[in-house]
Amino acid sequence: MATQNTCTTTTPQHSVSTTTTDLTGTITKTSEIIQNKSKGHFYMHVCPISGQEPITVNVFNIYKHDIFTTGRTLKLDNLIQKPDSLLYTSKSKHSFVKTFQPTAQQQLQAEKMHFPHTQATVATKRTISEALDTDSGRSTVCAKIVKVSPVKHVRDGTLPVRSIGVADESGTTKIVLFKDLAEQAFREGDIITCTELYRKTFQQTQQLTAHASSQLQFVQDDDLLFLETSSTHFDDDPDFSRSNPPSHTVQEIIFVDVYTICTKPPCHKKKYQQGACPLCQSTESNKTSARAVLKLQDGTTVTAFQETLRHLADIKEITSTSNELLQLLIDNLPIQFSGQIVNNVVQNVHKLPQSSQV
Ligand SMILES: [Zn+2]
Repeated sequence: MATQNTCTTTTPQHSVSTTTTDLTGTITKTSEIIQNKSKGHFYMHVCPISGQEPITVNVFNIYKHDIFTTGRTLKLDNLIQKPDSLLYTSKSKHSFVKTFQPTAQQQLQAEKMHFPHTQATVATKRTISEALDTDSGRSTVCAKIVKVSPVKHVRDGTLPVRSIGVADESGTTKIVLFKDLAEQAFREGDIITCTELYRKTFQQTQQLTAHASSQLQFVQDDDLLFLETSSTHFDDDPDFSRSNPPSHTVQEIIFVDVYTICTKPPCHKKKYQQGACPLCQSTESNKTSARAVLKLQDGTTVTAFQETLRHLADIKEITSTSNELLQLLIDNLPIQFSGQIVNNVVQNVHKLPQSSQV
């Protein structure tokens, strides 16, 4: 499957499986717009017309803030299901329907709810097993490192990710860290405190994932220092594997697209359409990105984005048109590289010398 996914995604790339759902209900409260690095979003509490408990919807489209207002009843399609909320993303749809008055019980429940970003300021210290079990907000965990993964770069090579295996008296788990946190020097035996961790189930296994606001410190803790630990828990976890990534050969180039992207932070690199950003209508950007669909030696079709294409075409920067980039790639064929293929997207590539022919 050639993925067409160039839109804003709201989940880290290592979360592969997504379940989508629909919801019709009335908005009882919305948060202010939260600007978080490049992405803006806001939360709303929605009381379903089914009469079920109110749900938190995380809206990753700040342009909806003016129309998703308290009291309106919305039909929302294609929301991504998360453990404690639903995500309205660029792939979600909405329409307005006849107003539904929430039941008295729903209103009572909704009044007791907090938006996740206000809850997050309450750093609750928990053991690993408590943090893996809680339904109320994020956790601060103090634990001993038993295994450290290599850093991998996802999202077209722009997002560093590292897993650390940690243990305390209550259990063992994996913590997934991003950006600066991922790039710290960790050693087995180090004791850390990490704040704002939320639990997450990935491939049937519970893990703790860092939030953008998570902070990590190396600490002293005598109890943990003498805690006997083992890393066998992670033996079968590919995140910790240090083996060389498999090598592949690009045999054919199916499609190359160099396109302009919006540089305004809330638009999150949205692709221009007909010379303008479809979100903010700006026409000022001269920043480009690139995408190509490639066919490998085994016949599989994969997508490669800008950073990957730079490596594969052996160039410092992509300043060319689609057609020029196509020619640069053709000139390099067959292109041998090592790297991972996740969801049909090539990442973490290293171009291999064109010596051994296949
Ligand atoms: Zn824009």
